[in-house]
Amino acid sequence: MSPRHDAAGLLGPGGELSKALPGYEHRPSQLELAREIERVLETRGTLLAEAGTGTGKTLAYLVPAALSGRKVVVSTATKTLQDQVFQKDIPLLRDTVGLPFEAAYLKGRNNYLCAHRFEAFDKSPAFATREEAALWPGLRDWALGTQTGDRAEADLPDAFAAWRQLSTTSETCLGSRCPLFEPCFVTRARRRAENADVLVVNHHLFFADLALKSRPGADGAAVLPRYEAVVFDEAHALEDVATDYFGVQVSSFRVDDLATDALSALPPSDERSGMLSALALTVRARAEALFTAAPAVLGVAANEGAVRLTPETGARLSAAADQFGEALAGLAALAAGGDEPELVSVRRRAGELAEELRFVLEASAENHVYWAEPRGRGLSLRAAPIEVADELQKRLYGSVDTVVFTSATLTAQGKFDFFARRMGVSLAGEGVRALAVGSPFDFERQAALYLPTHLPEPNDPEFPRAVADEVVALAEVTGGRAFVLFTSLRNMEAVHRLAAPRLACRALLQGERPKAALLDAFRAEPSVLFAAHSFWEGVDVPGAALSLVIIDKLPFASPGDPLVAARIDAHRARGEDPFSAYQVPDAAIALRQGFGRLIRTRSDRGVVALLDRRVTSRAYGRAFLASLPKMRRLGHRDAFRAFFEDGRPR
Ligand code: SF4
Repeated sequence: MSPRHDAAGLLGPGGELSKALPGYEHRPSQLELAREIERVLETRGTLLAEAGTGTGKTLAYLVPAALSGRKVVVSTATKTLQDQVFQKDIPLLRDTVGLPFEAAYLKGRNNYLCAHRFEAFDKSPAFATREEAALWPGLRDWALGTQTGDRAEADLPDAFAAWRQLSTTSETCLGSRCPLFEPCFVTRARRRAENADVLVVNHHLFFADLALKSRPGADGAAVLPRYEAVVFDEAHALEDVATDYFGVQVSSFRVDDLATDALSALPPSDERSGMLSALALTVRARAEALFTAAPAVLGVAANEGAVRLTPETGARLSAAADQFGEALAGLAALAAGGDEPELVSVRRRAGELAEELRFVLEASAENHVYWAEPRGRGLSLRAAPIEVADELQKRLYGSVDTVVFTSATLTAQGKFDFFARRMGVSLAGEGVRALAVGSPFDFERQAALYLPTHLPEPNDPEFPRAVADEVVALAEVTGGRAFVLFTSLRNMEAVHRLAAPRLACRALLQGERPKAALLDAFRAEPSVLFAAHSFWEGVDVPGAALSLVIIDKLPFASPGDPLVAARIDAHRARGEDPFSAYQVPDAAIALRQGFGRLIRTRSDRGVVALLDRRVTSRAYGRAFLASLPKMRRLGHRDAFRAFFEDGRPR
């Protein structure tokens, strides 16, 4: 490797990037991380690498990946980050620095325009609302001219319902039997992916691929091309995604999609069409009977959380499930009589639905948890592995010899043990290394932690009112410029209702408009944004626009969630204390994510206000404080005010 062609030659002082980019700042922690990733790509193994905010970890993994000569998949937590890596960081290395490597990105199938469905839709477009219809001329022009078919280019509202008619899922795509398979955008994106040295995907697609490949009877089916190494960015988010994809989900929506596709699978002139439609309508009616009966039988209430399923409760639905299963079998049998791609798809999906419904309602597989949850106006019956460590051993580590996990938050109390265990990695194992590189930010100078002790405990009925008072008082000092992050939508709404009318600045609320539009509004004018889960991570507001992050409660996962309850039980069954072994470290990592919203550049300055008094009144609070960077602590509003007054130019 020539000096230019190693991580130091590119990222180090006097390296290629410093020559190409005016104002480039060499960051020793970035180079340390890049060297470690370079080493693992060369020698094989597993690396757990925590890189504090501002390290520049994207380039720290992209440079070694591009130089490695191996086929590397980079997986990000969100499509936004995926687009950023592909559109910003990769061009920097290829075009500005001239690093010779092929890169491509791949998203889930439903992100691409389906050429086959577009042809049918264009003949008689139908929309749920006038607003959607008004977008059609522009969308049609884009569809006729796009080179990628990637929905992100079309700039559609998140909730654009007609996209379902214009795209496919792995369930509904006709695959190689499709008449437009060759010019299909998905086919072309996959070909680019096959030829790439660095392929950028997201965790959802990565685990969809892993789940598909390891399914019994998969017969070589795969979403991703063969790869030699994988780098997971934002790796703290992996467990949730893996749990979803290694589980199964039978929803009323899925049945409805199947019935809709079966109804249009054959032209009306086909003599089998009448019978197929009748069977599709029977499937729909029996599913409706099942999903209408299920909430009362299982005790699921609208707007409430999930309810755990047991073999006993599942059996109470067996009559309706058997009837539904018979209807699915009838549909599959008729569809098996033809080799049209639409019929082949209907037969496969009807068979899978019947099989998965049986699996969920039996609720008997070892190490699995089963539950029912409301989903919009529908219902979802679900099963998932309680822990994914064993699944990852079987499905991931057995098939790829180089795995890098990186994130700004992998450790709790400075240790990797919790994350490693959840991922099924033994820190003492051969070829396993762990590295934590610090943030270049000076938290002791730039940040402070406000820990008031005058609020009631979070389970006190007066807590929302006290939080609202505190938000109003703190926002008055900062002139807004604050995120208020909640652990539940209910508390978010309650506090917003109480505080918003009393604020001197604008109040924004998660859900009132799309996330990107909320962030634009937040940056444009001093505001207080009331938000829950989706703003705890992956949100970047550098500068004075965000000077205060208020966190209402320690972010413990709800023990009412069947998956969390099952994990707690699993720890207990092993003779461990679930609180210290699972709930506290899990919440500490989540808290670090929320904290990480505050300081995004070296010149940012601000306060995180943690309103949950348990962090100082309970012994376990120390584990949370030990997980945050060292910084000044403020106990009173006067000290809080002084922090901001000190920072103002005099
Ligand atoms: S292969 Fe699938 S996604 Fe592509 S055009 Fe055909 S049906 Fe649509």
